[in-house]
Parts: sequence; C-alpha cells; structure tokens
Amino acid sequence: MSLNYPFRLRVVIIGGGFSGATLAWQLAEEQVPVRISVVEPRPELGRGLAYSSGEPCHRINVPAHRMTMQPERPEDFMHWLVRGRASGRLETDPEEITLQGEHFPRREIFGRYVAERLAPHLQSGRIRHHRARVADLAKAIDGSFELMLSDDSRIRGDILVLATGHPPTALPRPLAELRDRPQLIGEADDPARIASLGKDARVLILGAGLGSADVVARLDRQGHEGPITCLSRHGLRSRGHVPAGGESRADFTDPPIRRASKLLRRVRDAVVDDEAQGQDWHATFHRLRAQGAQIWAGLDQCNRARLLRHLRTLWDVHRYRLAPQVEAVLERRIVEGKLSYVAGRLVEVEGQGATVRVSWRPRGGNAAEQADFDAVINTTGPAQGRTIESNPALWALARLGLIAPDPLGLGLATSQTCQAVDAAGMANPRILIAGPLARGHLGELVGAPECAAQVGAIAREIARQALLVPILRPVIVSTGGATANPT
Ligand SMILES: Cc1cc2nc3c(=O)[nH]c(=O)nc-3n(C[C@H](O)[C@H](O)[C@H](O)COP(=O)(O)OP(=O)(O)OC[C@H]3O[C@@H](n4cnc5c(N)ncnc54)[C@H](O)[C@@H]3O)c2cc1C
Repeated sequence: MSLNYPFRLRVVIIGGGFSGATLAWQLAEEQVPVRISVVEPRPELGRGLAYSSGEPCHRINVPAHRMTMQPERPEDFMHWLVRGRASGRLETDPEEITLQGEHFPRREIFGRYVAERLAPHLQSGRIRHHRARVADLAKAIDGSFELMLSDDSRIRGDILVLATGHPPTALPRPLAELRDRPQLIGEADDPARIASLGKDARVLILGAGLGSADVVARLDRQGHEGPITCLSRHGLRSRGHVPAGGESRADFTDPPIRRASKLLRRVRDAVVDDEAQGQDWHATFHRLRAQGAQIWAGLDQCNRARLLRHLRTLWDVHRYRLAPQVEAVLERRIVEGKLSYVAGRLVEVEGQGATVRVSWRPRGGNAAEQADFDAVINTTGPAQGRTIESNPALWALARLGLIAPDPLGLGLATSQTCQAVDAAGMANPRILIAGPLARGHLGELVGAPECAAQVGAIAREIARQALLVPILRPVIVSTGGATANPT
C-alpha cells in the first residue's frame, strides 16, 4: 500500500547508488519531514557501480564489521549478515571468513543489505524511486527545479542532492586506435566481454588498482590460464589487509600540517614509531584515514595539488586495499608466472589481425618495449576531469551556472556544509553534493563508511532546512508543480 506523505519540501536525490540510497534511508529513518524522491535507472537502490556486480569473486574490500549505512552503528551490516546466515535467509559462503575471523562477503551481499534496509520505506511510499536518468533540468520561476527524466516524465524538487558518483572511465589516448576492435575491452565492468576471452588469451590490463584486481580475479575464476600483464605508470599494485593489530598513536593534526612534504615526513616518522611499537604501516594508515579530513582542511590548494601530484598513487595503493581472497588469487598467479606488473607509460597500440601490438616506455627508461596481446582491458578508473561533461544532469546545472568543478578536478566545488559552490564562489543551499563528487572539499571520500558519514551531515542539513519551511515557505516551497508526472 502506498501512503501519501503531505510534506511540502521536496528533496530529489539524483543517483541512487550507495550514497543516494543511504541518504534517502537516513532521512526516512530520522523522520525528516520532507518528500523523498530518488532518481536512479538501476532496478534496485543502493547498488550503484560498486555493489551491482554479481560476480562471486568480487568482494567488499573493507571488513564487514566496518561497512555500514549508519555511522553511529559501524557494525550494522555485520549484524545483518550474521542474522541472515543464522536464519538461513542468506546462502552460506565458505570463503567469506578469513583465517583471522574477519568477514569479506561478496559485494552483491552488501548491495542486498542496503536494498533490504530501504524496502519498507519504498513499500510505504515514504521513499519514491523513479527508475530513470535525469536527462535535463531547468529552474522554475519559484526557485524550484524541474527535472526531465529519460522516460519522458518530469518531477519537481525544492532541494536537489547530487549523488551521481564517479564519472565513467575514459580511454587513454593511445587506445583510441583500437576503439572499434574486438580486442579492446574499454572498462572493467564488462562481464560478457571478459567471459568471451579464450582460456589462454594473453591479456594486457591497463591499471593496477582495485579495478584491475577485479578483472584478474574474474578471469582466474572463469578458468583463464594465459599470461596477464598489468601496466601502470608506477607499477604498484593495491596492498592487502593484515590481521587487526593495536592502534597507532600518531597525530597528524596537532600541530597542523601545512605542507605536503611535511606530511610525507610525518607519515614516514609515524611508520617508524609504529613499527618500534610492534605495529606496521596499516595502523599508521588507519590513523591517517581517520584524520584525513582534518589534514586536508589544513592544506592550501597549492599543497593539496602537490599532494595529489606526487603522493596520490602511493596513497591509493595503501589506502584502498584488496580483499584477502582477491589478494590470494593475485599472489598465486604471480608465483605461477601468470601475472606480472610493469611500470611504464603506454605509447602506442596497433591492431595486427587478431592480436594487438602494444608499446610502452618503461618507468625511468628511454627505449620503448613492445609485446603482443590477444586482448587489452582498460581499468584506468573514472575520468575525474570529465565529471560534469559526462553526466547530463550535472551538465544542465553547469549550464545554468549553478555548479562548478572543484579546482583540483576531483569532482564538484562544495562548501563546508556540502552545498554546491558555483563558478562565482557562491554556495547554494538548494543543491547538496553527496559521495565522491564532494571529494575535492573533504579530500578522502570514496569508501562506504566515509560516504555514510558524509550523507549523515547532508541529512542534518536537510532537516535544518525543513525546520525553516514554515518561515520561508513563500520563498522556498513551490506551490505550482504542473508537470507530466507531478510529485
Ligand atoms: C567497483 C567498486 C568497488 C568498491 N568496493 C568498495 C568496498 O568494498 N568497500 C568500500 O567501503 N567502498 C567500496 N567502493 C567505494 C564506494 O562504496 C563507492 O565509492 C560508493 O559506492 C559511492 O557511491 P555513490 O552512490 O556515491 O556512487 P555510485 O555507486 O557510482 O552511484 C551513483 C549512481 O548514480 C546514478 N546516476 C548517475 N547519473 C545519473 C543521472 N543523470 N540520473 C540518475 N541517476 C544517475 C548511477 O546510475 C549510479 O547508480 C567501491 C567502489 C567501486 C567502484
């Protein structure tokens, strides 16, 4: 049964991946008096790119006891998981628990957790899911937004939340040559094409991060035995987890760090100190991650840019770690001689019949090297510089002058209170930014625990605005709304 909720303030969340879905859920759970609509083309809210994969070897890369939709209840997912298994509702998974007793379930299971949490609110009509993409939008005369959806319907919102996640991957320039050839798989998330590769295919993967590891694990599970080469600028691959140990006592906030070089020195010193205390770098990084937003806030734009330029790869490979099951596959293949990592820059690719000749310049070397492959898979990750252009909703807002890229090219310019900042530097309380799109402001905003905490701040901001509605009503609440599909 669908109930009609007569709230005046209409919140439209564009994008129903983990961030958008978690925000909708937090607003519903906290009974914030607003009308909640989520526009998301995928059939289930909460899955997004990360948790849609049905591939059994794609696992969460943060132990289950730290994955949650509720920052104040970090073990929420873990409890759900244990209850689901005990009741027989969730199928057993013998590989899920590591020797150290930590759970790394399939990513699909985490998606199911989010979808189940939302289900009662969707059934009651408290949260409305519009299964479409926002194709365009306009500003109405009363200041509200009119959204044109890909199914030709229209909805209106007084507050927009942009939760469109990571932009799609772009092809590195040398790969354009292969664009129309069957040997090129343009993105990691293409199970059908990856499944079609022969058992002995020689595979080149561009990129050595988590996306690359996902592809290796998938190929391995489907019985692939040919050689896989991962080519990346630094040749560094994502690290794995170690059993939880003690905590680092390092403090990166007092005194505040103002320079990227100083931060690097402090991290190195902290690793040495932690090692002297019997910990390893994992403890130091855990601490760094916890204090990440404060550290980022203390740096000016110039030092933030320096940090990204020189230390980003190092940060990424230590921060975004592999699930132990995936790490085991990679290590086994390396020992078997079926997986290698190469540091270098892609120079040229040339289709030669059924194969591809690839040239790269090794890191620190001058002479190019080349080899032949049967397939090239691009896992170079989201094209951050194309965040706005690649999404029609963001493009429409940028055209209206309402949003702007953040100066470091990580996402959108965002204020302290998660409001969109336009090109003139003005924050807009009607447009809020959720999830990785707000990364430029917070520095570190990719993992589910961080996204859940950030959308918590957005939920509080919306609750604050909802309280003002009776006072500001003539200004911020639309009384019209004649649309093809009014909400
Ligand atoms: C492959 C992968 C695995 C990950 N694994 C983990 C993990 O194990 N643990 C962890 O902590 N973190 C993990 N992360 C990181 C983290 O969980 C994600 O960053 C998080 O899912 C971000 O969610 P999001 O909703 O902001 O973005 P997304 O998940 O990208 O969702 C954005 C949604 O917006 C929709 N959308 C985009 N444009 C429009 C539009 N115009 N109209 C309507 N809808 C639109 C898309 O359809 C999409 O569903 C992973 C990330 C990836 C990519």
